[in-house]
Amino acid sequence: MKVKIDADACVGCGLCVTTCPEVYKMADDKAVVFVSAVPKEAEECCKKAADDCPVTAIAVS
Ligand code: SF4
Repeated sequence: MKVKIDADACVGCGLCVTTCPEVYKMADDKAVVFVSAVPKEAEECCKKAADDCPVTAIAVS
């Protein structure tokens, strides 16, 4: 599983970092993905973060 954040769309609310700190972290005022591939055990929270992002900036594939 891979995940990507649209940095232009991200409003820096921090929700994805709270939901899934195994995958997302804040960098300045935007969230970034700091893993190249999502670990199996983090897939669920990774998807939840994508679903909950208020501006749908997270794309999971
Ligand atoms: S939940 Fe969405 S808008 Fe909020 S920090 Fe994460 S990617 Fe950005």
